[in-house]
Amino acid sequence: MRLPNYICDRWIESKGEGVPLVDPVTGARLASVGSDGLDLAAALDHARQVGGVALRQLSHAERAGMLARIADLLSAGREAYFDISRRNSGATEADAGFDVDGAIFTLKSYVRAARNLGDTRGWVEGGEVPLSKGGNFVGRHFLAPQRGVAIFINAFNFPAWALWEKAAPALLAGMPVLIKPATPTAWLAQRMVADVVEADILPAGALSVVCGGARDLLDHVREGDVVSFTGSADTARRIRTHPAIVERAVRVNVEADSVNSAVLGPDAGPGSAEFDLAVREVVREMTIKSGQKCTAIRRVFVPAAHAHALADAVATKLGKVTVGNPAAEGVRMGPLVSRAQQAAALEGIAALRTECELVCGGGENFEPVGASAGEGAFVPPTLLFCADGERAEVAHRVEVFGPVATVIPYADAASLARMVRRGEGSLVASVYSSDAAFTDALVADIADLHGRLMLVDAAVGGDHTGHGNVMPTCLHGGPGRAGGGEELGGMRALGLYLRRHVVQGSPERIAALAAGCADAALLSA
Ligand code: NAP
Repeated sequence: MRLPNYICDRWIESKGEGVPLVDPVTGARLASVGSDGLDLAAALDHARQVGGVALRQLSHAERAGMLARIADLLSAGREAYFDISRRNSGATEADAGFDVDGAIFTLKSYVRAARNLGDTRGWVEGGEVPLSKGGNFVGRHFLAPQRGVAIFINAFNFPAWALWEKAAPALLAGMPVLIKPATPTAWLAQRMVADVVEADILPAGALSVVCGGARDLLDHVREGDVVSFTGSADTARRIRTHPAIVERAVRVNVEADSVNSAVLGPDAGPGSAEFDLAVREVVREMTIKSGQKCTAIRRVFVPAAHAHALADAVATKLGKVTVGNPAAEGVRMGPLVSRAQQAAALEGIAALRTECELVCGGGENFEPVGASAGEGAFVPPTLLFCADGERAEVAHRVEVFGPVATVIPYADAASLARMVRRGEGSLVASVYSSDAAFTDALVADIADLHGRLMLVDAAVGGDHTGHGNVMPTCLHGGPGRAGGGEELGGMRALGLYLRRHVVQGSPERIAALAAGCADAALLSA
């Protein structure tokens, strides 16, 4: 099966053989994708000239209505999407739900957030700024949708969620979308686009999908376009420094890799509620989506006196996780998405082992249930123990994108903060402690290097939304090596697709322009 691309409102197959998509459980070939021969300059022009114009004519309520119809359509197609997720990503039911249901939930969240916008089309920010003594010349700030294309270059781990968490705010803001999913798992995103196109929900030109390599896509970006990238730090660097991006000052948002932390406070010893909550969360983070989450816990900082107890408790729970073919009875964790990812994860484990002890897992002599180790992309849950975190290098630097985490003991609060900061910018850290002084001091020490901090104590208990769960109403992104980008956070996310400008003139002219605009204060509501 060859999956076509959708550009210029037409389905077009690539030239050449394309790249095979495989089942990571068996290695069987499922389909192929490719972008060779596509006119990507024409694809972007069409989106700008047809899709952008049509979307900007619609009110916010009309755009939100389209998002609601997309959410309903995706809900109706859920079973088919789960099936693709199982076959192309080796996902368990829970993994597929994380991606597919997460996408639907996020779309619905934007529909809800937009309910107060009514028939407005643009945005007005703040009041009039007096500019003349007599009051007959004033300024006012506005925000307008950018007149380019929102180009999403996505990672392989969330083909559904990453598409719609970006597309929802972009379409609501009035920008057309061109999605380039990661090649190995492109099928799910391609299928969702196909379903939305067939249902005729969006105006012509508003949605395009290019499967396979990005090829010359970025050569054709121009002012007004937005490139939102999710993936590795290496690719992010290439995108940021691409000549067309630099010359045209194209807005780029980057979500890259991250060596996220979980921290147990000095009070969170064995027997405490915080200890148990931390153990549960570390195990969950290591196993859901086989650890292939940008937000997953990679480093677990524990007071030195409790570090071995924590490692033992996590290893005991990991020992009960059945790994193998998600179709087999009792399997809770599937493979990584490809043999290439498996090789990269095993390489990362080997690097960690140069300075850490193996607590459990590792990969040698591992036999998955209902599958062959020689054919699938399996990596067992692997916990390491790094006795000297202050001297360690690899544990703070290498993000092993799989079911892998490292326990690192700490001696005191100063050493802890120093080590957490060596992640050099992370998406998230979670703290398990009911010691308010400890937690407050740690937050003050590390907040500037994190996009999100999750504080868990006995009072919060199991009610938290999860270390790795990205909530559409809260900010997602992180500084430094995490890419420096910002996504979600409710209506804040529209800001990426809007351009601020000030208009100066007579109060009458300015008031006429402001009529029909929504209050930009809602963008931070
Ligand atoms: P990747 O290799 O960097 O690829 C990401 C995307 O970039 C893919 O669509 C890829 O296309 C494309 N790409 C590669 N080279 C390109 C180029 N020169 N120009 C334009 N596009 C190019 O990353 P990955 O292996 O898919 O994803 C894993 C990484 O993503 C991990 O490090 C993870 O932490 C990070 N991630 C971060 C977040 C977050 O929100 N912060 C979320 C998920 C994942 P092809 O597939 O066709 O090569």
